[in-house]
Amino acid sequence: MTAHTPLLEKLAAEYGTPLYVYDLERVDAARRDLFGALPDGFEVFYAFKANPHVELVRALRTGEGPACKAEISSAGELAAALEAGYPGTDILYTGPGKTRDELAGAMAGGVRLFSAESLSDLTHIGAAARAHGVRAEALLRINSATAGAGTSIRMTGKPTQFGIDSETVAGIAAQLREVPGVSVAGLHLFSQSNARDEQSLIAELLHSIDVAAAMQEDLGVRLRILDIGGGFAAPYAQAGGRDRYPGLRVALEEKLDAAFPGWRQGEPRLAVESGRYLVGDSGTLLAGVSNVKVSRGRKFVILDAGINTFGGMSGLGRLLPVSVAVDTDGDGRAVEKASLVGPLCTPGDILGREVEVPEAAEGDVLTIPNAGAYGPTASLLMFLGRPAPTEAVVRGDEVVHVSRIEHIRTPV
Ligand SMILES: *Cc1c(COP(=O)(O)O)cnc(C)c1O
Repeated sequence: MTAHTPLLEKLAAEYGTPLYVYDLERVDAARRDLFGALPDGFEVFYAFKANPHVELVRALRTGEGPACKAEISSAGELAAALEAGYPGTDILYTGPGKTRDELAGAMAGGVRLFSAESLSDLTHIGAAARAHGVRAEALLRINSATAGAGTSIRMTGKPTQFGIDSETVAGIAAQLREVPGVSVAGLHLFSQSNARDEQSLIAELLHSIDVAAAMQEDLGVRLRILDIGGGFAAPYAQAGGRDRYPGLRVALEEKLDAAFPGWRQGEPRLAVESGRYLVGDSGTLLAGVSNVKVSRGRKFVILDAGINTFGGMSGLGRLLPVSVAVDTDGDGRAVEKASLVGPLCTPGDILGREVEVPEAAEGDVLTIPNAGAYGPTASLLMFLGRPAPTEAVVRGDEVVHVSRIEHIRTPV
């Protein structure tokens, strides 16, 4: 059995597989890199969706350097944020289907800043604030009709449950301004995930600033907070490193100086959002080989980790299929082509089709890199009733926390 570093090997031996190992030193490094690529004073909202593990989200708030704020979208993510010590004032609550109960829970948890996805959503936010005896603030999420020149985006300008169509804002501005219980504090634009390259990322963020400047006119509200979205890229279950953005800071500064001259004095406050960039490379997935078989000349390596453990949404065919890579260096094993499949009784349980894997035998442990984002909680954890993977959090060589999500049915 080989799991590539002595620590990974020891953890796999002790806790078995499938096992996620997250290294907080890498979370720290990603946070440093992201803040370092942005102009001074920018805020970063961590999208809990990428990985709501409380030890990871705590690490993003504590330690040296500027702290991340929390971007959450459910009662479970709210609980994780509060447990990790995020004050309500550092939380942005987003999502197209906020229910009355969720909003009441968020108000009770001290959250005051919400992203509003429509006039009716804004009305719900205001009503929940009034019921709690407080006043909320909202960022209007804008679904821009256009994308930045040269971006890799193909999703703007289409009908979607996300955001207010930009071309309708002027017509409903008065209504948006007058919803009881909530003030329009700014805008939220999020149009791209995992940008193809720096040029595409910059083009889209600059475009978002232009859209925001135009919306400020349409709305007749002075923007106090401007969340321009994200798109910061990281490899997903493939070898490689996070993208670097050496040109981002100056490009943003120049655009903001022109479009929002008060921004250096904090009017508006500027924010971006990121999930995968902050946690993706902190995680490694160790998967055990349960069996190896050949079918009609093709080799199948059957793992104890499938779409119940990693990449579940792609197993449903709802997203691009994931293709997992396995670390192939370091242990001298020959490399061959095989399909990596999970243990589930569905042909959709494929992690990689005809990918390069070290020649594997029953009982081996394979190492999947860059698996810290969209892992367990983005997978089909309950499907076919296997236990959730164990998740170990380390800081360098020190083990900080080991746990597993349990599924239990409780009477209601
Ligand atoms: C998913 C999501 C993010 C995080 O996306 P990444 O690609 O992981 O950075 C940020 N903001 C919003 C609104 C999202 O829905």
